[in-house]
Amino acid sequence: MSLTITCPICGKRNGYEFRYGGEDKEKRPEEDMFTSRAWCSYVHMNKSVAGTQKEWWCHKDGCGAWFAIYRDTTTNLEVSDPNEDGSKAKA
Ligand SMILES: [Zn+2]
Repeated sequence: MSLTITCPICGKRNGYEFRYGGEDKEKRPEEDMFTSRAWCSYVHMNKSVAGTQKEWWCHKDGCGAWFAIYRDTTTNLEVSDPNEDGSKAKA
């Protein structure tokens, strides 16, 4: 099953045109709580869920835009934003 991603500017394209930017992280460590351990955990520790997760992608072979989508990691299919009404794919 091939990966297709919907760029908010260019539309639906082959996944090979994109660069994966990682999982959407909840928030960066606060400056007053900043330690090398906290930063390492923030950068390298991922949830890697089997199911829907929010991810960052860059359309590297297209418009160059960075955007977030929701993708089901078990099927490689884009899914609607679970926080919206579900009538369209999140771009
Ligand atoms: Zn694009």
